[in-house]
Amino acid sequence: MKNLDFNITPIAEWSPNPGLPLLIAGPCSAESQEQVLQTARLIEQDKRAMVFRAGIWKPRTRPGTFEGVGYKGLAWLAEVKKQTRLLTATEVARAEHVKLAIDAGVDILWLGARTTVNPFSVQEIADALQGHDIPVLVKNPINPDLQLWVGALERIHRAGISKLAAIHRGFSPVSGSIYRNDPIWRLPIELKRLLPELPIICDPSHIGGKPTLIEPIGQKAFDLQMDGLMIETHINPEVALSDARQQVTPDHLSRILDNIVWRKPQAQNRAFAEQLETLRGRIDELDSQLIDVLAARMKLVDEIAELKKQNDVTILQVSRYQEMLENRLSQARSRQVSEAFIKLIFEQIHQNSIRRQEDIMNAAPVKG
Ligand code: PEP
Ligand code: MN
Repeated sequence: MKNLDFNITPIAEWSPNPGLPLLIAGPCSAESQEQVLQTARLIEQDKRAMVFRAGIWKPRTRPGTFEGVGYKGLAWLAEVKKQTRLLTATEVARAEHVKLAIDAGVDILWLGARTTVNPFSVQEIADALQGHDIPVLVKNPINPDLQLWVGALERIHRAGISKLAAIHRGFSPVSGSIYRNDPIWRLPIELKRLLPELPIICDPSHIGGKPTLIEPIGQKAFDLQMDGLMIETHINPEVALSDARQQVTPDHLSRILDNIVWRKPQAQNRAFAEQLETLRGRIDELDSQLIDVLAARMKLVDEIAELKKQNDVTILQVSRYQEMLENRLSQARSRQVSEAFIKLIFEQIHQNSIRRQEDIMNAAPVKG
C-alpha cells in the first residue's frame, strides 16, 4: 500500500492538553446517571484525564446482554460536561446516533470495532457526519485487516472530518492468547507508516481484557509513540453491566497512569521504536526458522539411528563427532560468532542426538 493523501488536523490543535497524551477514561457503558456522574467526578480528580467515555449504544456480540441505555444516556453525558472539566465521547454505529450525539453536545465520537468491519455502516456514519467539525476516532476492525481500517478512516475523512484518529483495540485471537484481543503491533505500526500524521490512541482495556494487562500494554503503546490511551474505568467494576472483568476504579486508573512512562514524541524516538519493532520481528522469524531446522536435523538423526541399528554400529563415533565440531567451529570463526558459544550449542545438540539414538536402538522390536 502506498502512502495516502490525508489532510489531518494535528491532535495538538484539538486535544485539551496539547503535547501530552490524550487520556480517555470512563465506563464501558453508561448505566445510570449516578454511575456516570460519580465515575466522572472521581476521574476528573486525576489531572491527566481529559475525556470521559461511556457507551450509550452497545454493539454486543450476542443478543440478550445489556445493549446500552440508549439516547437517554446522552443527557447524563451533558451533565458530565456541566459538572466537570472533562470532554465527553461516545460510540456511534448508525446515522441516527451521530445526529443525536452531536445535538446533545458530545465532543468526540468513535466507531467501534464491529462497525469498522462494515463499509455500509461506516459510509452511513460518514454521510451523517457531513458538515460537522467534530473529532472522530476509528477503532480497528475485529479482524487483522489493515485495508478495512484504512478504508473506514478514508470514508470518514472524505466526509470532511480532519480531526481524525485511530484507536488500536486489538484483534480477535485465534486461540490460546493471553489477550482478550491480540495487539498485533505491526498493524498499528504499518498504519503509522502509511499515515504518519494520524494520531493513534491505544485501548489497553479491550486488548488485555483484564486490569493487570493495562499497564504493560499502555507502556508498550507509549514506547511505540502512540498518542493516547482509552481506559475503561467504572466506579464499581464488579457490578458493571458490560466488560466487568476489564474495568478499573478511578483510583486504580491513577496508579496505572503513575507507572506508565510517557516518552516524548520526538521524530528520532519514533523511528527508533519502529525500527526496533521491525528488527525484533525479524528475530522472531529467524528463531522460528532455527526451531524448524533443529526439528529437521533431529529427523535425520532418527534415520541415522535406524541405519546404525540395522547394521549393528555403535551410536557414538568419536572421530565423526570431533570432525563435526571442528568444522562448525571453523565456520563460527569465519562468521565472527563466538567459538565458545557455538561449541556449547553443538555439545547440547550432540547430546540430544545421542539420547534420541539410544531410544531408537533400545526400543523393543515391533512384533510382526
Ligand atoms: C467499547 O469501547 O466499549 C467497545 C465496544 O469496544 P470495541 O468496539 O473495541 O469492542
Ligand atoms: Mn467495553
